[in-house]
Amino acid sequence: MKRIIYIPFDHLHRKFGALKDADSQSDVIAFVESARMTTGRNWHTERLFFLISSARHFAKSLEDEGFTVEYVKAATTVDGLKTIQKKHKALPITCAEPSSFRQYDQLKAFGVTFVPNDFFLTPRDLFTQWAEGQKSYLMENFYRAQRIRLGIMVEGNKPTGGSWNFDKENRLPPPKKYEGPAYLEHKRDEIDKEVAAELGHTMTTTWATTRKGALAQMKNFFDNHFAEFGPLEDAMTTDNWALHHSLLSPYINNNLIHPSEVIHAAVKAFNSGSVPIESAEGFIRQIIGWREYVNGMYWFLGPDYRENNHLNATRKLLPLFSDPSKTQMNCIKETVTDIQSRAWVHHIPRLMLLSNLALITGTNPQAFLDWMREVFIDASEWVMVPNVIGMGVHADGGQMMTKPYAAGGAYISRMSNYCKPCAYNPKLRTGETACPFTTLYWDFLDRHKETFAKNHRMSQQVFGLNRLSDLPELRERAQEVLAGFEKGQI
Ligand SMILES: Cc1cc2nc3c(=O)[nH]c(=O)nc-3n(C[C@H](O)[C@H](O)[C@H](O)COP(=O)(O)OP(=O)(O)OC[C@H]3O[C@@H](n4cnc5c(N)ncnc54)[C@H](O)[C@@H]3O)c2cc1C
Repeated sequence: MKRIIYIPFDHLHRKFGALKDADSQSDVIAFVESARMTTGRNWHTERLFFLISSARHFAKSLEDEGFTVEYVKAATTVDGLKTIQKKHKALPITCAEPSSFRQYDQLKAFGVTFVPNDFFLTPRDLFTQWAEGQKSYLMENFYRAQRIRLGIMVEGNKPTGGSWNFDKENRLPPPKKYEGPAYLEHKRDEIDKEVAAELGHTMTTTWATTRKGALAQMKNFFDNHFAEFGPLEDAMTTDNWALHHSLLSPYINNNLIHPSEVIHAAVKAFNSGSVPIESAEGFIRQIIGWREYVNGMYWFLGPDYRENNHLNATRKLLPLFSDPSKTQMNCIKETVTDIQSRAWVHHIPRLMLLSNLALITGTNPQAFLDWMREVFIDASEWVMVPNVIGMGVHADGGQMMTKPYAAGGAYISRMSNYCKPCAYNPKLRTGETACPFTTLYWDFLDRHKETFAKNHRMSQQVFGLNRLSDLPELRERAQEVLAGFEKGQI
């Protein structure tokens, strides 16, 4: 044997990373299940189950291929690697560049050598080159450059269909009683059962833990959901928990599926003529635009970026985030209950409900980030940090997004069916039945009016404060709402 190839739990692809040129005659494959990863925090067991079972299935597939595989449990990754190295005569260890600053630094300090991380479509240095040439890091500009660079839905330098963006067609509210096609259920095997027993986890059938299952999920999306993805992309409904979202983020993030495989299938389906352009463009934008941009920004902005707190938000995490019985707000109760059942909700509840609530209540960004990392199935550090700190709670002062995504109850009422049965009225901003989102939206603008008045994309919203004749009453109600949240009574 000549070397040890270390496979982090998010590098599970045979054809990419350090495994690309692996040889069963000369390479020992190493996996480490670290206690830091499993018991270090209050992780959602669905998330742990998915990550660990996927890694164990992948390790087994390499063994079946004839590789010598070492899968160890240890206090830390480095401790585990030491054990494996001891057994294999101090062979050198190689790995694809890890996906977080922390793991990168730890492995580098231990002497691991890296091969380039090709688990994304954009090499890190190429992104840096793009970012260094920008005045502001607008995702839209990055996305257009990606379309041209990758040759996706373009004719020369022009977008197919005459527009880069079909968002106007993609903002429909949910239709009444919308069921849609059934979601795929994933069968469980002995490895799954073993992992679930170790974690004390009650298995569900929501998430696959094998490449085969992940590919079935992808096929199901392209066959049954892709054509309708766009128009209902932002809608939220209690009738259907995922609408036409792909449910592919966990598999692309742990690399059971490489993003190039998803894009290839999307372009193929679009070229066959069976998918409207607003759905194809909307989905492709998520994969080659948002996902790549977020990863690029994580590395570009550096390890201290996660500590930003531009709006000096100091409130502790509200009890309603971990316990849906601590709120009477129907949208939050439903969303947190969904997260408890599946470790997933789509991007609009993440942004316009959870992050919006953290933003307008002045919740500490790092406390909120930690919670989001713990409860979502797809929450890797590189993706959660920019999405929360930059997009979700504007803690970076606008480095990523030019304005905060703050909204009142009217948006939620328009885009969901949550409000009708709710105890609160989205149209009211004062009084006991006022929607807390509406009250706190105005209160948030009022508290930060000096900061936001200077932002040309916010000035109109801030100016709206002048029209409120009930501002003193609103400020008082906002204090009551915040106190009620802390007691778990609102
Ligand atoms: C506050 C906040 C936190 C988020 N945290 C995560 C996270 O921890 N992990 C994660 O993978 N996504 C995160 N997202 C992005 C997005 O919500 C999820 O990728 C999506 O909901 C996953 O479901 P899906 O696969 O059905 O996505 P679809 O709606 O089908 O989208 C297709 C794919 O596009 C990619 N994508 C779309 N938007 C983003 C984005 N903003 N950042 C990165 N990739 C994106 C994902 O790979 C996703 O699978 C977050 C978004 C917000 C607003």
